[in-house]
Amino acid sequence: MPGTHLLLIEDDDAVAAALQRVLTNSGHRVARAATGGEGLGLLGPETGVVILDLGLPDMDGIEVCRRVRRAEPEVGIMIVSARDRELDVVGGLDAGADDYLMKPFRLAELMARVRAQLRRVSSAPAGQAGRIEAGAVAIDLDARRAWTDDTEIILRPKEFALLALLAANAGRVVTRDRIMAEVWDTTWLGSTKTLDTHILSLRQKLGVQAITTLRGVGYRFEA
Ligand code: CA
Repeated sequence: MPGTHLLLIEDDDAVAAALQRVLTNSGHRVARAATGGEGLGLLGPETGVVILDLGLPDMDGIEVCRRVRRAEPEVGIMIVSARDRELDVVGGLDAGADDYLMKPFRLAELMARVRAQLRRVSSAPAGQAGRIEAGAVAIDLDARRAWTDDTEIILRPKEFALLALLAANAGRVVTRDRIMAEVWDTTWLGSTKTLDTHILSLRQKLGVQAITTLRGVGYRFEA
């Protein structure tokens, strides 16, 4: 998507230069900020995706994330963090981030995740009301039916609700807590064998690549 504005908020000059080079070579216009305050100043309606480092010198990255989301509700926010603590990632997702990558990561993985965010932010809500389309999957919410490549998939009620939630958020991470609250109407207290079983079952019906597991955090539907 040439000409799309990416905003890179990263205080490490070497990391920022490498990312800026690879993203620019892929045809993106990249603005770089070295602090949270500078990043918020560069954010605007033309920004498609924000790539946000959590460890910044002036502000907590999660607070930056919250302010980015408040200022630009539609922008894609991808956290890139060296902090490998799950709480930070979950905190970032709760603060409005769409996706995350742990450092170190492969540049190809970063590019794929950025492309997924750009597809998500540039596409109008897919299909008509009551209908979700994500990759090869189509879902009719009113009729409670789903298809993959035009073949109907037979789903149990909770499988249907889980697929609808994940597909409606294709390209974004959906946390386990949110899934338990929205699909099972419960607060997650520890192990959730039922959720694992339903994910396994959906993968058998849709293919293993359809849903990515983000260990300790949640799941992402790959459109
Ligand atoms: Ca940093």
